[in-house]
Amino acid sequence: MGGWAIAVHGGAGVDPNLPAQRQEEAKRLLTHCLHLGISALRSSLPAIDVVELVVRELETDPLFNSGRGSALTEKGRVEMEASIMDGPKRRCGAVSGLTTVKNPVSLARLVMEKSPHSYLAFEGAEEFARQQGVETVENAYFITEENVGMLQLAKDANTIMFDYRIPTDTCSGAAGTIDSPLQMNGLPISLYSQETVGCVVVDAQGRCAAATSTGGLMNKMSGRIGDSPLIGAGTYACDICAISCTGEGEAIIRGTLAREVAAVMEYKGLDLQDAIDYVIKERLDEGKAGLIAVSNDGKVGYGFNTTGMFRGCATEDGFMEVGIWE
Ligand code: ASP
Repeated sequence: MGGWAIAVHGGAGVDPNLPAQRQEEAKRLLTHCLHLGISALRSSLPAIDVVELVVRELETDPLFNSGRGSALTEKGRVEMEASIMDGPKRRCGAVSGLTTVKNPVSLARLVMEKSPHSYLAFEGAEEFARQQGVETVENAYFITEENVGMLQLAKDANTIMFDYRIPTDTCSGAAGTIDSPLQMNGLPISLYSQETVGCVVVDAQGRCAAATSTGGLMNKMSGRIGDSPLIGAGTYACDICAISCTGEGEAIIRGTLAREVAAVMEYKGLDLQDAIDYVIKERLDEGKAGLIAVSNDGKVGYGFNTTGMFRGCATEDGFMEVGIWE
């Protein structure tokens, strides 16, 4: 047993010109979430409770793309999705197409624990939320002014927004609220969509858990489901490790990225970081995604092939790190 470990992400695919202030805000939030997780682990909360707690915090803050601050569909609404997985028994729950549930990750957990199923979507998921009495809010609660501007940029560029591949000269927005590609209402904005959140934990008993939550891609089609709620693609946990992915969902789904890390550890006998490096190199298209992971021996690791990935990690021996770039 190697002690507890935790990692958290706020998405892969970062604007290389992201304003310094925004970088600091992101690092502050990641650090805060790590501390939240660390104190929960020190109080002996099981891994599954810790990942839910941390992801709820990220969903509540509008900085990243989950819960409040979620990316918008082409229709200008949010359709959120999340999943959670408890390693020891491989129990899992997932939700998609949520429009009113304040904390999608907690509904995913209720699907896992209180329904006979592992995945509920759209109307049925919303009905289940009401039956379970979880907190709901108007769709407008999730929509930030910044994301309204970002959606317009994506529409102007005729693209579904992800990472650094949008050339700046296609983004000179025609929208009234956008003063220039880097300004909205006089404030600097990123040209790139904020990204998904996730957390992976191994507790002191060696139990692994993972959770991921997102609004998906900016300007996505209504009804689009990404990797984040798909067990094996965006999220996976078993008795040896836990993984949460972020990036272009379609590429992560094709690579069954999260499960692949576990499979490589299981069948090839690689250790955590080697398994991550192998999967990023062999199973993922260039420039598409990243992931965080922990293993049951208290190790933490990550990898990405995008410009950057908002991330942080900590282990019981006192190591702690928060970063964005390589
Ligand atoms: N993977 C998410 C999706 O495709 C997006 C992200 O990670 O930022 O929905």
